[in-house]
Amino acid sequence: LRSGGDHDDFIFRSKLPDIYIPNHLPLHTYCFQNISRFKDRPCLINATTSETFTYAAVELTARKVAAGLNNLGVRQGDVILLLLQNCHQFVFAFLGASYRGAIVTTANPFYTPAEVAKQATASGAKLVITQSSYVDKVKDLAREKHMKVVCIDSPPQGCLQFSELTEADERNIPAVKISPDDVVALPYSSGTTGLPKGVMLTHKGLVTSVAQQVDGENPNLYIDENDVVVCVLPLFHIYSLNSVLLCGLRVGAAIVIMHKFEVVGLLEAVEKHRVSVAPLVPPIVLAMVKSGEVARYDLSSIRMVMSGAAPLGKDLEDALRANLPNATFGQGYGMTEAGPVLSMCLAFAKEPFEVKSGACGTVVRNAQMKIIDPLTSASLPRNHAGEICIRGNQIMKGYLNDPKATEGTIDKERWLHTGDIGYIDDNDELFIVDRLKELIKYKGFQVAPAELEAMLISHPNISDAAVIAMKDEAAGEVPVAFVVRSNASKISEDDIKLYISKQVVFYKRINKVFFVDSIPKAPSGKILRKHLREKLASGLPF
Ligand code: AMP
Repeated sequence: LRSGGDHDDFIFRSKLPDIYIPNHLPLHTYCFQNISRFKDRPCLINATTSETFTYAAVELTARKVAAGLNNLGVRQGDVILLLLQNCHQFVFAFLGASYRGAIVTTANPFYTPAEVAKQATASGAKLVITQSSYVDKVKDLAREKHMKVVCIDSPPQGCLQFSELTEADERNIPAVKISPDDVVALPYSSGTTGLPKGVMLTHKGLVTSVAQQVDGENPNLYIDENDVVVCVLPLFHIYSLNSVLLCGLRVGAAIVIMHKFEVVGLLEAVEKHRVSVAPLVPPIVLAMVKSGEVARYDLSSIRMVMSGAAPLGKDLEDALRANLPNATFGQGYGMTEAGPVLSMCLAFAKEPFEVKSGACGTVVRNAQMKIIDPLTSASLPRNHAGEICIRGNQIMKGYLNDPKATEGTIDKERWLHTGDIGYIDDNDELFIVDRLKELIKYKGFQVAPAELEAMLISHPNISDAAVIAMKDEAAGEVPVAFVVRSNASKISEDDIKLYISKQVVFYKRINKVFFVDSIPKAPSGKILRKHLREKLASGLPF
C-alpha cells in the first residue's frame, strides 16, 4: 500500500483540460462579467405570474440593495439570515449582500423557531430577511438579539419593508475592498459528523465552483444565454444557489423561479416557459414519475435533466427518460463543504462524452480527487472503493468558529474528506457506493443524527439514544431511533415521536423507534452505527 506524499498518490483529474478562472473577482462581479451581452434579456421569471426582471434590472437592484443594507447598518463581514422560499427577492438580497461585502446564511423557512434561533445565534446574524408567513419564527429572537427584520411582503408591525432596500440609492454603496478569501455564503451542514456547522464559502470558492461548471471552451455544464433553467430546488440549499442561480447568472440564462415544488406546478412551468434545463433531485423525479401527469404536458423543450444531492436509481431515470425524448440525463455529486460540486456528468459538456447510468460524473476541472482506504488513508487506484477526497480552490474555507471540525474535514495537504465511499472506473467516472459519515438524507435534505440524539437524551425518560438512516422509497432515507428508556420509564414510541416533532422541521421527524437495552459504543464512547445499521438490515426484532 502506498502512503504519504502527493507524488505517490493516485490522483484523478477531469478528462477536460484546466481553464483560466478569474477567481480574484468578487462573486457578483464575476457573475455579471458578461452582462453587456445579455443585459436586456430575461434573468428572473416568476413561474406563476410570469413577472420578469432583465439582467440589467437584477444587477441594478442588487446594487440598490447593497446601499439599502448599508443604510440599515450592515457592514462588511456582517451576517444576514435569509429565511425565504424561492423568490426574486432572495436573489436581490443575496447579490446585494455580496456587493456590500456581507455574508448570507440561508435557512430552511420550514424550520421551527428553535432551529432558526440556533442558526441565527451561531452565525451571529445582524439582520433577517423573511416573508410575513415566517415572521413569527424570528420575532422573539429579533427582540432579544436586537436583530432587524426585513419582510418582503406586507410587513407586520416592527418589521422593515423590503422596498427600503430595493429603493435605496445605489450611488451610496460605500467603497468596499473584497478579498477573494472573504466569506460570502454561510450555509449550514453537519458534514461528516456532529451538529450542523456554518460552512464558510468564499468569493474565490464560489467563483471557482461556478467556473468549473460553466466556463471555458467545452464546459462541464453547457448552458448558455438561450437556456431557460427552472429553479424549483430551494435556493437556501447550495445545490440550487450555486448550480442553478449562480451558474445561470454567469451564462446569461433565464431563470424560472418556483416558490416551491409541486408536480403539476413544475410541469406547467416547463410547458409555459419552454424550460430547457431542469436541475432536479431524485425525490422530485420520483414524484413526477409516480404522478402519472408527465405525459399530459409538452415537455419537449427540456434538453437536459440534472440530478444531484442523493443517488438516482437507474429504473427511476429510465422511467422519466421515456417521457422526455429530447433530454440528456446525468448526475452531479455535491457536498456543501466542497463548494459544493465535486463531479459532474460529462454528457452535459458541449462535446459530450458517453456516460454510464449510475455514475455521478467525473471530477470537475481545476481540481484533484483521490480515493483513500478509510483505515490506512492510503490512496487507492481505479476500481477500488474508498473515501472520496477532493482538493481545489472551490472547497470551503472551513467551519465558522470551529477549527477542530475544520481540521477533521480538511487535512494538512488541503484534501477535503467527504465521508462518502466511492470508486473511479476505467473511464474516469465516479460511482458512490456507500456513506461513511453519519449524515441522513431525507429527499436530499440533511438530517444530522447528533442533533436528534441530543434532543432524545435530554428527555428525562430516555437514558441513551442513537439515530441512523433507514431506506425509504419516497424519501430515500428516513431517521429512525434506537432508544434506551430510563429506569422504570414507560415512554412509548408515539410519545418520543411527538416530543421530537414539536422541535424540528418535518424531515427530521423520527420515523420509527426501537427500544433497546443499550447502545453499542466503542471504548471512546463513539456510537457504533455500523452495528445498528446491520441490525436494521437483518430485520431481526430488537
Ligand atoms: P449536502 O451537503 O447537503 O449537499 O449533502 C452532501 C451529501 O449528499 C454528499 O456527501 C453525499 O453523501 C450526498 N450526495 C450528493 N450528491 C449525490 C449523488 N449524486 N449521489 C449520491 N449521493 C449524493
